[in-house]
Amino acid sequence: MSFAALGLVPELLRAVAEEGYERPTPIQQETIPLALEGRDLIGSAQTGTGKTAAFMLPILQRLAPDPRHTLRALILVPTRELAEQVLQSALAYGRHTRLSAAAVYGGVGLEPQTQALRRGVDIVVATPGRLLDHMERGHVDYSRLEVLVLDEADRMLDMGFAPDVRRILRELPVERQTLLFSATISPEVDALARTALNGHASVEIGRRAQAADGIEHVIVAVDKLQKRDALAKILQAKPAGQTLVFTRTKYGADKLAGYLKKEGIPAHALHGDKAQSHRTRTLEAFRRGVSEILVATDIAARGIDVDGIRMVVNFDVPADAEIYVHRVGRTARAGARGLALTLLSPDEWLLMADIEKLIGQTFPREVIPGFEPSVAPLQPRTAEPAVPRRSVTVRGRTGAARRRR
Ligand code: AMP
Repeated sequence: MSFAALGLVPELLRAVAEEGYERPTPIQQETIPLALEGRDLIGSAQTGTGKTAAFMLPILQRLAPDPRHTLRALILVPTRELAEQVLQSALAYGRHTRLSAAAVYGGVGLEPQTQALRRGVDIVVATPGRLLDHMERGHVDYSRLEVLVLDEADRMLDMGFAPDVRRILRELPVERQTLLFSATISPEVDALARTALNGHASVEIGRRAQAADGIEHVIVAVDKLQKRDALAKILQAKPAGQTLVFTRTKYGADKLAGYLKKEGIPAHALHGDKAQSHRTRTLEAFRRGVSEILVATDIAARGIDVDGIRMVVNFDVPADAEIYVHRVGRTARAGARGLALTLLSPDEWLLMADIEKLIGQTFPREVIPGFEPSVAPLQPRTAEPAVPRRSVTVRGRTGAARRRR
């Protein structure tokens, strides 16, 4: 199927061709015709499936014939990075229209955003907290609003934005089109959908919480105290290209990036305590490939959409199996292949078993010579994958751990 067959206008067809998109992804094929009809919609799609274009192209098509520079489409997103990224998509896909767009998020000055809102733009991409700030100051006029998008709704609720989102919803015209996208449809997301949507269609791409097919999952068994050294060794031994390393805490991200640097591996940390200008610079350097290794927390990494991330490393195993799916979804985007490598210490076996169960695979376990974990077994007995797709290979598991300094 081609983009033209979806009924998109020439200005948008030109823009997607210039982006290098040859054909619509499955979620785009399903969503775009329904959204163009003006239907309300719930889209559940894993990350990296092309969902931004799936909602942005219909919005642009709806607004393009009549650019008015008054707020007609609002896109709510959980993080600043995602806001910036969705804005960039709006500008890229809309480059042959005369529509205007702006992003509104915290951590940067109010004034430029205030001016943009006062001047008027067709499309606003916003995080809920900062948008409320502007609403309270009287900067936002919703009287012409036609479309609302709730993007990454599950994340927005996880981050505690439910009350803010509900306050915003109360101010919006009842007559509108609403599109909700979420990686998972939890009871909370479902409840939000029931208040926000009206007679909606559902589009589901891929099995719920399934990681993309192009991802190879590998576990490196190691003792907790040796994770840093093991990671340094892995990164030195075979530079994988763009690598995103996840830690559970901001402090952990800083400490690890500092340690890698000391070992001669250029790494940068990205998390919510850094100034916005610093986050933008760090992310831009990573996006352009100037810096290859980024150490990030889950929230900071939420909006990262960098094509060509070759490897995701779980330095800590996430406490929630679905977070694993989100993390590894940063690689193998848009049909590419990627490696998801988890450093697994014995205290994390049960968490890993949950992840393997959710994904329905038992991942191969490897050991780095010199970093053998002190405790066996490497293969947890608790994991019973629903669909075992590959056999387990255990290499070189011998001896007790040698502690290195
Ligand atoms: P998203 O799921 O919206 O974050 O998009 C994931 C990545 O896929 C982004 O880098 C997009 O630029 C890219 N993308 C979106 N649609 C297509 C398409 N039809 N063909 C190729 N790449 C695409």
